[in-house]
Formats: sequence, structure tokens, C-alpha cells
Amino acid sequence: MSKDQSTLKGIPASPGIIIGEAYLLDSEEISVRRRPIKIGDIPKEIARFKKALAKTKEDILKIKEKISEEMGAQHGEIFSAHLLVLEDIMVIEEVIQRMKREKACVEFIFLDVLKKYVHAFSKMDDEYLKERISDITDVGKRILKNLIGAKTRTLSNLPKPVVIVAYDLSPSDTATMHKKNVIGFATDIGGRTSHTAIMAKSLEIPAVVGLEEVTANVTNGDTLIIDGTHGVVVVNPDKATLRQYESQKARYQSIEKGLASLKNLPSETKDGHRVVLAANIELPEEVPSVVLHGAEGIGLYRTEYFYMNKEGLPTEEEQFQAYRLVAEKTAPHSTIIRTLDLGGDKFLSQLDVPREMNPYLGWRAIRFCLARPDIFTAQLRAILRASAYGTLKIMYPMISGIDELRQANAILDRVKEDLRKNKVAFAENMEVGVMIEVPSAALTSDLLAEEADFFSIGTNDLIQYALAVDRVNEKIAYLYEPAHPGVLRLIKSVIDNGHKNGIWVGMCGEMASEPALALLLLGLGLDEFSMSPIVLPEIKKVIRAVTMKDAQDVAERALSLSTGKDVKMFVNRKLKQFVPELAVE
Ligand code: PEP
Ligand code: MG
Repeated sequence: MSKDQSTLKGIPASPGIIIGEAYLLDSEEISVRRRPIKIGDIPKEIARFKKALAKTKEDILKIKEKISEEMGAQHGEIFSAHLLVLEDIMVIEEVIQRMKREKACVEFIFLDVLKKYVHAFSKMDDEYLKERISDITDVGKRILKNLIGAKTRTLSNLPKPVVIVAYDLSPSDTATMHKKNVIGFATDIGGRTSHTAIMAKSLEIPAVVGLEEVTANVTNGDTLIIDGTHGVVVVNPDKATLRQYESQKARYQSIEKGLASLKNLPSETKDGHRVVLAANIELPEEVPSVVLHGAEGIGLYRTEYFYMNKEGLPTEEEQFQAYRLVAEKTAPHSTIIRTLDLGGDKFLSQLDVPREMNPYLGWRAIRFCLARPDIFTAQLRAILRASAYGTLKIMYPMISGIDELRQANAILDRVKEDLRKNKVAFAENMEVGVMIEVPSAALTSDLLAEEADFFSIGTNDLIQYALAVDRVNEKIAYLYEPAHPGVLRLIKSVIDNGHKNGIWVGMCGEMASEPALALLLLGLGLDEFSMSPIVLPEIKKVIRAVTMKDAQDVAERALSLSTGKDVKMFVNRKLKQFVPELAVE
């Protein structure tokens, strides 16, 4: 009898739908017996331990080199963290001392010390340190295996394409993973910013993380649907569900194929009104995907990811190198670098930021940068220096009024002055924009427009603040409505105020990537739409399917409706009329 269907909800880590066979990665528990040793054996045990450490170092260096070559230095850097763990002299000393005291074999003592560290880290109330657990466990297992002579698991030679199901994937797992045989993955733990999620996105493999109990609900060979766009995993789908997802997947694929032909066509309406379609990125490694999907530049380069997964803060030089690389690779198009947007759900543990009751309303983004000019200045210097190598623009996140814009610009002016004095080249006329994601900024956009070069509407936050709906709380997700009349009125006033002052207005929040809403936004006069590269072709299709008059009529009618649901229904109907293949059933 076939097993019942079950559906699990997790965190969407990498978009797309994939249907495949489950391959459960065992948790690799290594069992080690307590073998008593005599005092005279100790030097031999220490030598064995040192040999295992040396072999582990050799293994890690080899992987680091391979990954840096294949995927870029940023991914290889993860293994530098592993080397640091390995060289942690405290652990080594502790093992040797305990071995002398307890007269037990080195693998037994080492495993015990390892468990103690993992336990201590898991109790810490800090996202960054918690994520270090996987580094410690990964290195620890390597050392143990080298001590007892076991083989290390590898995902490089799987016999057929499978969906990997695991408690978590270690950097060593993802390093040996190949797109050819790993078609998707699902993990019990992990968040949006975990290494696993970042890796999945750059490999363009659909993935869902943070499912809590996926390993308990799946056995080898089960059929799995991974919907990485919505964070859903269906285990042993029934025929109807399978059909539904198969047709959705086929639809995506045929749209993708059809859309690929649009790559070199302009993003303009039937009557020749041009808009800019740009991409959102988090890592320089994503630039090839931006180019591949035909984006005209980068509308949002989120820089906080650059501050993660490393010891300490990035230096000005490191940032300069990354920004320069992106600027050069995106040329002749421009790249908008958003200055550090720490806070809310983006925490950086290396900064001494206290926990807050209301982090979304707290010491975040531009507020933090203005209070820490040392960090802000280093980033601005790096951006300005990189601006000599391509077209870069800056935008500030979470501006709530003109004061903050002026303060940020005053620091920027000081940095420019210093660079001039030291004869360091930078683009004198670099555009400086404001993210509109706080309702007070939207309501004073007439004032901000006089002193900004452009606006980029961050609807992810603007919606949560305008509707008082936490953007990550599942319980109230039904209230998070981009089409709410209150949100639409704010957006309209931002676009109108921008245009009245002769500046362009873009959107880098997720709303810009919803085809039916894009139609409405086009009608409101939005000049630039920025989104994940993967969804870009769909939006181009929408834009090319209508005249500006069609879109304006949609916007006008939508603004006359009184509920978000009515607006949603209406724009979906219009999308079906203009672009039937993209309509949602
Ligand atoms: C937004 O708020 O819409 C946005 C693009 O920024 P983030 O999602 O990084 O907060
Ligand atoms: Mg935001």
C-alpha cells in the first residue's frame, strides 16, 4: 500500500519546484568506545591525535582550494573558519590533559570535548554563534574519522539524481554536492541566511530549510515535492497533488523557456514606454545569474550578508574588492549598493548590539550606521573607491525623514573630501538614493525628493509598518497584503512626488516581482522594478504585453477599490486577460 501524503512547511531557501526521490543523509553519529589506556600509552595517543589533526588540515585545505576554484573565494572562505576551529589550541590542550587524567583513548575524550562545545554553543542566544555549531561539528567529525580511520561521506558520487533530506547540511556536504545528482534539498534546521540557503540559491537548486521534522517524516526512496518558492515539502504526494505540481513545474519550465527568448528584448510596453528591470543580489557570486536573466543592472545589492559568516567585521579593502568586482561585472549597467541594513531579522553577532523588545522598530539600518560612523565610513569609502570602476549608486535603508538623509549625506561628504585630499579616484556624480520603507518617509516623500537622486520602495518593510503586520509572523500572514488600499496609496504618492521633483522611482521589495501587481505598478508610473533574477523574465513578459494606457486603466480602477482582496481579484483578472500564461488559477 502506498504511504499517505503529508505536507510540511518550512522556510523557502531557494526558489523553484522539483519532484524527486528522497535520499536521507544519515546524521553520521560516530560511536566511539571508551578504551582504557596505560600511562605509557599516552605519548602514542598524543602522536595519533596530532597525526589526525594534520591529516584533517590537509583535507580541509584541499576542499578549500577546490571550492574556491569552482565556486569563488567567498565560498572557500567557509573552510578558513574550519581551519581556525582546527587550530583552537584550547581544545587540543583540553584533550591532552583529560587523556592524562582519565586514562581513556583519545577518540573517546575528543568526542566528549566536542559534545561539550556543541552543547555550550547551542545554549547561546545568538544566531551567528549557533550557526558556528555546524562548523565545529563538521571539523570534529573529520578529526574523529581520521582518528578511527572511517570514510568521510561525500555527495559527489550519488548514483542518480536525488533530493537530499538531512538534519542540516554541513559546508563539506554542500561543497561536494553537484547540481547533476542533487536536484533539491530539505533540512530540519537552518534559516534564510544560513550557509545552506545561500549555497542553494547560488546553485539554483530548489530548497526548503527549517522544516523541523523532515528527517523524521521521510524515508529513503519516498517521493518528494520541493516547492522552494513557497517553503513547502510534500511527502509521498497523492496523484492529484502530483499532477497539480507537475503541471505547475511544467508551466514554470515552459515559461522559463519562452521567456529566455525575451532576454535581449527591451523591457518596454507595446507603445514603447521603457522601464528598467534590475536584479536583487546578496553575494557577488550571483552576478552571472543577473546577466543570464537579462537584468539591466542591480537594483539592490544587500550588503549585510557580506558581514556574515566571518570572524570580525569586513575591512574597507575587502568591501572595496567585492564592490569593485560587482561594478565591473555588471557594467555597462549600474549597481545600487544598499548601505548596511543591520537589525530586524538581520543580526550580526560580531557587532555588540543588544537584544531588543521590538527589533523591527529598534536600533537598525541607518539609525545604527549614524551611531557607528566608524563602520559606516568604512563602507562608504569602499563604495566610493569602487565607483571608479563602474556605475555605482548608493541607497540608505530605513530613512524615516529628511534629517537622517542629511546626516548620512554629511558623513558621505566628509568621506568624499578625505578621498579628494588623498587623491583617491571616485565618481564625483554618484547618485544617492533613499529607500522608502517607513510610512513617514512615504508621507514626506515630497520633501525627500528634493534632496535625493532616486527612490527605491522597499515594500517588504513598508507593508509591515503600514499595516502593523510583522513580516515574518506566520499567524498574521493573512493580513500582510501588498494590494491593501493603504499600501497602494502610499506607493502612488511616493511615485507622484518623485516624478514631480524629476527623480526616478524604483521598487526593490518582493511586490515588484508579482506579475499581477507589476501591471498595477507599471500603471502607477514605476520606473524601475528590481527582483530575484529568476523571476525577471516573467515581469518583462507582463510589461511587453500591454500599452501604458492599459496599465494606467488597471491602476486607476484598482485604486478605486476598497479592499486588498478586491484589488487582488481584479488585477489577477486583468493579468489573465493580458498574459493568460502567467495567470494564477
Ligand atoms: C524591503 O524592505 O522591501 C527590502 C527590499 O529590504 P529587505 O527585505 O532587505 O528588508
Ligand atoms: Mg527593508
